[in-house]
Amino acid sequence: MSQVLSPRDDFPLLSGDDAPVYLDNAATTQKPQVVLDAIMDYYRTANSNVGRGHHRLALAATDRYERARAVVQHAIGAREPEEVVFTANTTDAANLVADVVGRRIVGRHDKVVVSGMEHNSNLLPWRRLCDSVGAELVVVPVGPDGRIEPAEFAAAMGPRVRIVAVTHVSNVLGTVNPVREMTAEAHRHGAFVLVDGAQAVAHLPVDVRDLDVDFYCFSGHKVYGPMGVGVLYGKRELLDEMTPFRVGGGTVKGVSHTQPVRYVPGPARFEAGTPNVAGAVGLAAALDYLLGLGWPAIRAHDESLVAATLDAVADLEHVDVVGDPGATPCGIVSLSVRGIHPYDVGGHLDAHGIAVRCGVHCASTFLDSLGLVGTVRLSFAVYNTLEEIELVRSALKTVEPGPW
Ligand code: PLP
Repeated sequence: MSQVLSPRDDFPLLSGDDAPVYLDNAATTQKPQVVLDAIMDYYRTANSNVGRGHHRLALAATDRYERARAVVQHAIGAREPEEVVFTANTTDAANLVADVVGRRIVGRHDKVVVSGMEHNSNLLPWRRLCDSVGAELVVVPVGPDGRIEPAEFAAAMGPRVRIVAVTHVSNVLGTVNPVREMTAEAHRHGAFVLVDGAQAVAHLPVDVRDLDVDFYCFSGHKVYGPMGVGVLYGKRELLDEMTPFRVGGGTVKGVSHTQPVRYVPGPARFEAGTPNVAGAVGLAAALDYLLGLGWPAIRAHDESLVAATLDAVADLEHVDVVGDPGATPCGIVSLSVRGIHPYDVGGHLDAHGIAVRCGVHCASTFLDSLGLVGTVRLSFAVYNTLEEIELVRSALKTVEPGPW
């Protein structure tokens, strides 16, 4: 098996002999130099507030910010830049839709459908919404292979379903959900669809128009961009009808103490206050970088790392693979080690210079349904290597119960 991508030198934190074996990319990715440069360049040459001032620097900053929006638009196949709202992260985007759209269209005895594999960030906003309006949260079960049966999903649909909120890729098992088909099914019942793309955008080409989702969200920091910036895509006609989530500077056309407030159209109405301009600029640089590597190479790289991991643990009798990551390889393999708590395995791997995430991955309801206290999650990025997987294999051979 050969290495497909080797852009490691692009990532300062990973260069040098003592660089960690970083396999916690589903939590956050490392940043390439081009992203760091873009952020620095913004602060050095264009920093100003956006959408307000009319001096040259303010216009330059606004231009960079809006160019970043256009980069996101093209990266995810949105129809126009106005369909891209900058948020703080995926969590912020899901909350925005739950609070603005959910509160408007979900009433007593209505239903919101989620899957059994949701991250808390795409579960709790819907849970809170349902609790507060007296709606029912319907959870579509996930099979032991980590997949949702289309028949189970179809069974959850019905006339009272107002919103379906589902993850594109599971952050626990890497399962890729057939969100295009799920969206079509939900639309047949008149429901809106939000897809949580936090684990998808770095691994799969995402085309929101092809998927026909109503809302799609992701975080910059999981796609080689900075923390503190995320994206909510929404169909233009839906965003235009939505009232702002937070109100304040930048969201209004005109305010008086007595007349109704008139909010601006477009994404600005959801971006109250000073936005994370450098974050958006960094995110755009990250998406340009990612797309520059090319989807065929990224997909092949992902597939080779997942296949190599499955090979590497196949003869380790104390190690079980959770779910079926080989079916739809998407940068994640979750393991459990018999008789040893995931945290102890994580401590052992860390002692060998290998960073992984252990535990319930903010998806305890999913782990409960799998009957597991947690998993040891290896999550890959474009800079990971087959040699690193060999190091994981060697370390797993000697793992023993803690303390570490
Ligand atoms: N959804 C999924 C599937 C995730 O994996 C994560 C983070 O791990 C989130 C949502 C939340 O992302 P953020 O913390 O960037 O809002």
